[in-house]
Amino acid sequence: MNLPQPDFPTSLRPISRPISRPITALPDELVSQIAAGEVVERPASVVRELLDNALDAGANRVVLRLGAGGVRLIRVEDDGSGIPASQLALALTRHATSKISTLDDLESVLTMGFRGEALAAIASIAELTITSRVAGQSAHMIDARSGEIEAAAREVGTTVEVRELFFATPARRKFLKTDATELAHCVEAVRRHALVRPDVSFEIWHEGKMTDQWRAASPRQRMTDVMGEDFGQAAIEVNFAAGPVQVRGWVGTPEVARSRADMQFAYVNGRYVREKVSTHAARQAYADVLHGHKQAAYVLFMQVPPERVDVNVHPTKIEVRFRDGREVHQAVLHGVAQALAAPRAASTEVAAPALLRGLSDAQHAELAAANLVAERGAPVWMQPRLPERVDGAAAMAQLQALWQRPAPQSTPTPTLAAATPETASHWPLGRALAQLHGIYILSQSADGLIVVDMHAAHERIVYEQLKAQLDARDQRVASQAMLIPATFAATPQEVATAEQSESALTKLGLEITAFSTKTLAVRAVPLALSDADPVALARSVLADLSTHGASQAVTQAQHELLSTMACHGAVRANRRLSLEEMNALLRQMETTERSDQCNHGRPTWRALSLAELDKFFMRGR
Ligand code: ADP
Ligand code: MG
Repeated sequence: MNLPQPDFPTSLRPISRPISRPITALPDELVSQIAAGEVVERPASVVRELLDNALDAGANRVVLRLGAGGVRLIRVEDDGSGIPASQLALALTRHATSKISTLDDLESVLTMGFRGEALAAIASIAELTITSRVAGQSAHMIDARSGEIEAAAREVGTTVEVRELFFATPARRKFLKTDATELAHCVEAVRRHALVRPDVSFEIWHEGKMTDQWRAASPRQRMTDVMGEDFGQAAIEVNFAAGPVQVRGWVGTPEVARSRADMQFAYVNGRYVREKVSTHAARQAYADVLHGHKQAAYVLFMQVPPERVDVNVHPTKIEVRFRDGREVHQAVLHGVAQALAAPRAASTEVAAPALLRGLSDAQHAELAAANLVAERGAPVWMQPRLPERVDGAAAMAQLQALWQRPAPQSTPTPTLAAATPETASHWPLGRALAQLHGIYILSQSADGLIVVDMHAAHERIVYEQLKAQLDARDQRVASQAMLIPATFAATPQEVATAEQSESALTKLGLEITAFSTKTLAVRAVPLALSDADPVALARSVLADLSTHGASQAVTQAQHELLSTMACHGAVRANRRLSLEEMNALLRQMETTERSDQCNHGRPTWRALSLAELDKFFMRGR
């Protein structure tokens, strides 16, 4: 076939020269520089590699010192096992590693590093020195440029100093952003390590000033230190296992959702990753509580048997490939959805803290005593382990048993019929006292005051009811025929939609038929919405249906349609509720999944404890 050649302007014409040079092996230095191009994009990439090495060496404490956002200086000091003087030169050689030696090792690698190229690559694009000392020997320093080794002074551990990054490749240096931006990326790299290694303390210094410090702490405390108080308070624990995959960590409620995906941390076997399977699964799990373009905040640790995940697919190991993506997707989807669904008001005062705050100090002590805490305090599922240190399967089983122990003294939620004034004080959402401005329910709980947005809460309950009916076997919302059909003047568009969407409407529990060319009649409405205004309900469902068009889209938009309907069925502001009605609503909230947020992701209730009230009024107790 003779295709016309595209006519490029001269400047865009592809360069093609005849290959005239003989084939030669590239010099080692150049090979390293090419490798460095893949591994080192910016100072933060160096920070990540050096932290990986420090943690692989079993460090308890890591100090990072930066100059000019890391461009001028990156120095990582650790108290790990150190490098013997006799191996310092080898550590800088390409493809030299102490972490794997066979293909089998590669398939079950649990250390952060294994490619043996980071130090060589960094040394090819910056000035690098290593000062190190192993127990029982004196310290030595190697200068990568000259290869010279000399005596030095330091405690057991390693200091790697990297100066003038990209000094030999100025083109690369031009791509760097301001020092402040590069510094932010470096700090982000440390946060990623800090979240998964709460047992290690981290310090960051920039231009001689300490900018961040995270002391060794419990996993939950470290998470709060790194993610911030707001997230820490709103975080719900995830603890889920499906087949060989385990998912643990914390998910933020919709209240702490962000406009950017900058608080999403995912780990596979202790390694921070960016991969599509878990991101997609988490997004799907949030779809029901997070509307619009909000981005969820979460920290998820996936534990996958090493032979079911390939970590050797990307030079920086930030991507992984799962042997069976579906099993990971399912585990994350269900783990996150389950955590988000649990109504946080459902547990009693006693059970709640254990559920919400993760492991107590006592449980931590127990963990440590049970020797499940490899080295110094982080549960084994969070950290990558060297295989010889811990018997993984046994430790995992014990750890799981500990986490899955039922919460102490949880009492079943009482039904409305069984309610007496004494049991009322045990209800998590308390006993209704009054309605405020026709919008809020005020309720007294054992711990203080509960304020409920009654419309938002009821809307969620109705929505969950409708959804449950649609998910049930007969796949349609239970409906109730109206004694007298409600007729209304309709637009031709509405009449047409009603006629075309008959089966979709039936599924939604609605029957809307044409009375004349200009009149529609509502003959049946969903049982759960029998109090709603049938005409307003019909109109907004028809409007939704006509925007969704084809019946295919209707199936996909079902939940949205139910949400629209729920809004109509929910109690309106300014409707007077009796105390019984208010109490009934509170009890329903306690047993309804996802009742802590309305369909639009806003909270449905808030608590003010007596302690907080005392603080308001400066009342000492
Ligand atoms: P890799 O981490 O993939 O093995 P690197 O080039 O990062 O490759 O490091 C090469 C080797 O140098 C490591 O395998 C390890 O033996 C040694 N090493 C590097 N950094 C440290 C450190 N901070 N403490 C102890 N040993 C280290
Ligand atoms: Mg390494």
